[in-house]
Amino acid sequence: MTQQNIENVIIIGSGPAGLTSAIYTARANLAPLMIEGEESGGQLMMTTEVENFPGFPKGVTGPELIQTIREQAERFGTRFLTKNVTKVDFSTRPFKVWVDKELYLSKSIIISTGASAKYLGIESERIYMNRGVSACATCDGAFFRNVDVAVVGGGDTAMEEAMFLTRFAKKVSIIHRRDSFRASKIMTDRVLNHSKIEVLWNREVIEVVGNSKNMTGLVLKNVVTGGLENLSAEGLFLAIGHKPNTDLFKGVLDTNEVGYLITKPHSSYTNIEGVFAAGDVQDHVYRQAITAAGSGCMAAIDCERWLESLG
Ligand code: NDP
Repeated sequence: MTQQNIENVIIIGSGPAGLTSAIYTARANLAPLMIEGEESGGQLMMTTEVENFPGFPKGVTGPELIQTIREQAERFGTRFLTKNVTKVDFSTRPFKVWVDKELYLSKSIIISTGASAKYLGIESERIYMNRGVSACATCDGAFFRNVDVAVVGGGDTAMEEAMFLTRFAKKVSIIHRRDSFRASKIMTDRVLNHSKIEVLWNREVIEVVGNSKNMTGLVLKNVVTGGLENLSAEGLFLAIGHKPNTDLFKGVLDTNEVGYLITKPHSSYTNIEGVFAAGDVQDHVYRQAITAAGSGCMAAIDCERWLESLG
């Protein structure tokens, strides 16, 4: 029987956190293996313009930014596997990572699986998924030319999606469950001053309605009066936050009450020695590409020093 190869480090997830840890571990001669997922690149792949990533004074698109960081990681010897991890076992070392039936062994692990968009959880939302309902204006906005669409949420994502949709749609209605936004002032002002955007405060989406093909409207509930109303809309864009991608690690690693991985203060250490976490999978506060990249750098340095300490 041949001896199975043991990697120095396997990085799971390929957003800015994972790719930055790949650059650092590759430059430290650890020859990282990145299991990047079938939909690689993370949330930036669904972002149009990134205006706040240092080094790009004219802005950069999310996919371009990811491609640039990926090339940098590849240049120093990162190997990429474009598959999804299906199971892990971190109970003994070397750690075990499965991609279907294929088993990979590694001395250390960096987890950077990020977070995913949340859904409302109503049945009709699933019925009209991709038939009007979307969680990504950047991906699907162009299908909604000269029609009315709605966005749910009151954070920066909702503002960003609504602004983006004004490029295509006739009217954009933002549906928010309270009477003020949690979005930044600058984004809020842009939205409130836009002639194509209306805000429906204190409303919840109760139902998505439509015909056998596509959605045609929404039933909204006014949370103050309790009254129901109909809104005509051919698109519904969900922008109500995110869920950490930690299903693989349930019962394996410590998480907080909503599922984010817990890292020790000022470090990327999880509760299992040799397993590190970086980016949105462990950060529900900052959630920026640049903070994710920064924490990917921290994880790589923590990992490298930990491996070094093993001798
Ligand atoms: P947030 O968590 O900031 O906002 C989610 C919004 O959705 C809130 O307004 C919330 O309402 C509402 N919401 C949540 N659940 C439901 C539900 N079940 N039904 C109806 N409404 C719901 O998420 P975002 O994705 O907007 O932003 C995440 C982070 O990313 C933030 O820190 C943000 O600043 C940042 N960001 C920055 C951008 C930029 O700088 N360009 C762009 C996009 C995001 P309520 O307010 O009542 O809780």
